[in-house]
Amino acid sequence: MAESVVLVSGGVDSAVTFAEAVREDDETPVAVHARYGQHTASKERDCAEALAAHYDADYVELDLSDAFGTFGEGLTDDTDLSTHYDDDGVATSYVPMRNTVFLSVAAGVAEERRATKLWFGANADDRDGYADCRDEYADAMERALSLGTDRVDFEVRRPVVSMEKDKIVSRGDELGVPFEHTWSCYQEGDSPCGVCASCEERARGFERAGVSDPVR
Ligand SMILES: [Zn+2]
Repeated sequence: MAESVVLVSGGVDSAVTFAEAVREDDETPVAVHARYGQHTASKERDCAEALAAHYDADYVELDLSDAFGTFGEGLTDDTDLSTHYDDDGVATSYVPMRNTVFLSVAAGVAEERRATKLWFGANADDRDGYADCRDEYADAMERALSLGTDRVDFEVRRPVVSMEKDKIVSRGDELGVPFEHTWSCYQEGDSPCGVCASCEERARGFERAGVSDPVR
């Protein structure tokens, strides 16, 4: 029986979170990956699947494109991502209720398996523009999800929530995370664009950590 479920997006933060889960748990966590109609869906899926294979984890993939197609913004439509924040201070790449839906889906997969831990890769860089990446949000979700069932008392584990990208990359390097199976660019292609906000953040993180990025 699995002890935990990890949300694996295909990005760096969830990959390092995955590695922490593997290190801490006695059983290999179940990897849950959701497609939500984002432009980079197939690249991210390939990465999530490869990470699950790397850690020999069960892999569950959910297609939520229809749901997010009805209320998606940010990474799913033609939002201009060249400005980082909108007038409300929300990141232009923010997708409405993304982590709320993802954590709920992960909790469903976990409940069925009587797993109690949900591993979630929220990080400090996203604190400003993404309300659903903050520590207090994760605390509240942990409580709401636990109140939603009499079977499981959930714990939302978020090992990188207070770390910025360079710390996350250093930690991932220590844990031997196969960064070649991660994708950060807002566009899909054989190689990342190198100029979008996400590519910039990744490049800065690897550079400050002194780790060479296998995906360039
Ligand atoms: Zn890019």
